[in-house]
Amino acid sequence: MIPLLDLRRLHAPLRQELEAVFSRVIDSGQFIIGAFVERFEAELAAHLGTAHVIGVSSGTDALLAALMALDVSPGDEIITTPYTFFATAGSIVRLGARPVFVDICEVDFNIDVSRIDAAVTSKTVGIVPVHLFGQCANMSAIREIAAERKLWIIEDAAQAIGAQHCRHMAGTMGDIGTFSFFPAKNLGALGDAGAVVTDDERLSERLQVLRSHGATHKYIHDRIGGNFRLDALQAAMLSVKLPHLKKWETKRRTVASNYRAALADVPGLVLPKQRRDNYHVYNQFVLRVITGRRDQLKRKLAEAGVATAIYYPLPLHRQPCFKALGCAEEDLLVAEKIAEQSLALPIDPELTSDDLGKIIDVIRDEVEQSN
Ligand SMILES: *Cc1c(COP(=O)(O)O)cnc(C)c1O
Repeated sequence: MIPLLDLRRLHAPLRQELEAVFSRVIDSGQFIIGAFVERFEAELAAHLGTAHVIGVSSGTDALLAALMALDVSPGDEIITTPYTFFATAGSIVRLGARPVFVDICEVDFNIDVSRIDAAVTSKTVGIVPVHLFGQCANMSAIREIAAERKLWIIEDAAQAIGAQHCRHMAGTMGDIGTFSFFPAKNLGALGDAGAVVTDDERLSERLQVLRSHGATHKYIHDRIGGNFRLDALQAAMLSVKLPHLKKWETKRRTVASNYRAALADVPGLVLPKQRRDNYHVYNQFVLRVITGRRDQLKRKLAEAGVATAIYYPLPLHRQPCFKALGCAEEDLLVAEKIAEQSLALPIDPELTSDDLGKIIDVIRDEVEQSN
């Protein structure tokens, strides 16, 4: 079986180093926040070129803490995309606010910036763009709109660590950026982990407090936060992996360009594009099957031992739990179309050329048979 991502193969060369650092964590006796977490926070801040990094328990908690730091309250409207992982909108609704879904652009699957302005109302407080699959949303345009309309920006950069827009790192272009170190993200931990980043000192202080139940001093709670703390073991793992991130990015980009070269002439497929001004880090390589035969191709690949995935089969405005939001489906037609066409291929940094050849053969075979 060719998996989407083979973490055992990725970690094999790091095993000794990882085991050594895990032993040091055990010996340290401090397992939640503390020195290993502070060290990783400083390393990530340097990598991103941002002033403050607050390590948290997951990408979901990163979003929740960021929204809480910006005082999101019931009734607030927040503009975001319907075509993303659930957590982006889930965390907004958990605070009683309302996600206002703006349709996506079919070229990069990110929020269509030309439609944002029309979605702003007197209740709108911010925008949460998502840098989907490893490619930045059009942050230049989003920043302009936010400045003009006096809105804050939280970048959901869970899938885009290392990605760039106009040479700016994903997560550093808004008021707050959020990251996930879920194992399948480009920088993955040994379980759940995440980070919140900001250049704003005041927001950074708030985030630190929110991470530990809103306590400014032990057992004195100025506000209500959560248990959003990062474990030492996860931070130690991430410190070992961070120096390799750039190399893995480059390998992912090579796999992507090999796919592109081999599949460019296949009718009925639309391959993912890197927009001008963007540096795409391919957390996923998602193509579109525009013949209506996406599910057949997926089945053929599975029969041949190739794992694929559909990100995302049900856009968020169609989720049963968001029914009460009463979203107008006719305004979100691109998201609906892409949900029926998208197919993610294996994008493992260590994918062998044999495996790549096999995947390409199966795809060509299926397309020729169906013509
Ligand atoms: C993975 C992901 C999250 C949530 O991260 P977790 O660490 O799994 O909680 C949020 N947003 C997007 C876009 C993601 O891909």
